[in-house]
Amino acid sequence: TDFKSDKQPTWCPGCGDFGTMNGMMKALAETGNHPDETFIVAGIGCSGKIGTYMHSYALHGVHGRALPVGTGVKLANPDLEVMVAGGDGDGYSIGVGHFIHAVRRNVDMSYVVMDNRIYGLTKGQASPTSREDFETSTSPDGTNQQPVNPKALALSAGATFIAQSFSSDSQRHTELVKQAIEHDGFGFVNVYSPCVTFNDVDTYDYFRDSIVDLEDTEHDSSSFDQAKDRILESEKEYIGVLYQDDDSIPYEQREGIEGSMAEIPDGAPDGATDLVREFY
Ligand code: SF4
Repeated sequence: TDFKSDKQPTWCPGCGDFGTMNGMMKALAETGNHPDETFIVAGIGCSGKIGTYMHSYALHGVHGRALPVGTGVKLANPDLEVMVAGGDGDGYSIGVGHFIHAVRRNVDMSYVVMDNRIYGLTKGQASPTSREDFETSTSPDGTNQQPVNPKALALSAGATFIAQSFSSDSQRHTELVKQAIEHDGFGFVNVYSPCVTFNDVDTYDYFRDSIVDLEDTEHDSSSFDQAKDRILESEKEYIGVLYQDDDSIPYEQREGIEGSMAEIPDGAPDGATDLVREFY
């Protein structure tokens, strides 16, 4: 199974998004998925190009709106493996409302966020996850605002799977995306994915020196309280599964929802083509 398209990425050499994407492709293949049965939805930003570089069905959508599109794709065709990709700007600024509702809805799909704590595509403005003292073109004296904590937002919105990975740790990153895919419900993976061009603070060296793998701790990922404590410890950069609810029931399998969704017929319904012609 090959999830790599023949398009050459235009990301800067060394960008963390290469490692993030490689792990996503491996994770999809190793969980038995096939490009014909996989749908990637991406938003806008450097991360948004990912659907072009991967070989599967894909939609490069509107800024911040990838999650509702992914939700629609999954509910219309539950047989598809749906993976939504985005960045910290796309997902935690303009898209943050959709993020919270996708989390609480718990549709069975995965969401991989390339979090580089900066806007890369538009050349280095502060993003929602930029540090308070980070000097950028839009924050010459620092942002003077607390960064958004996406894992805390997810936990408080009722997330059933929250993981953190690092793009340069290929094996661990792949494993965590696999776990998100296999989770029954919304599998959220925030990825430290360094922007080598515009962020000279959250670098590979910084993450290599600061990361603590939860596997080397006593962390119990089924414990909400432990997840909360780990997520709020701002001086540590934990990777691993922070929280997983093993009793999670995806939205589409809930009583009252299962079996009640409209059947989508194969092909265009009778008369649809004429109707479209008439309209235009
Ligand atoms: Fe990657 Fe940053 Fe270059 Fe964008 S600007 S491709 S995030 S290194």
